[in-house]
Amino acid sequence: MADGFWCPHCETSRSLRILQSVDIGAAGNFDEVAIQSIECDRCGKRGMAIYEESRRGALDDESVAHTGYWLDRETAVHIGLLLSACQGGPRQNESGAELKKRYSGHFTAAPIAVAGKEGFPLEYR
Ligand SMILES: [Zn+2]
Repeated sequence: MADGFWCPHCETSRSLRILQSVDIGAAGNFDEVAIQSIECDRCGKRGMAIYEESRRGALDDESVAHTGYWLDRETAVHIGLLLSACQGGPRQNESGAELKKRYSGHFTAAPIAVAGKEGFPLEYR
């Protein structure tokens, strides 16, 4: 995780970093889903990313989607708090369930809503 991703906002290589990542397991049509918070080292833009992986038997059948969405400060703080709460502590399971529910609803509900926002692929370059 030392290398960052290409930031489409300031167009800088390897500047977009994953701050937190929470694996919510199988969800929707995917075998593995992770919800992440992201921030660019250079321009400071914050957002979230959704990592989706599906494995249909054979290894070369594996498909991965990794999509980022920019968030305003306030929304980025909300996702940060929710992800932190999933890292352990008494609210871990509750927060994990909340995250999975929001993912299943395509993050359409406030305060963390990305549905309708234009996503961008996270790329190593
Ligand atoms: Zn940037």
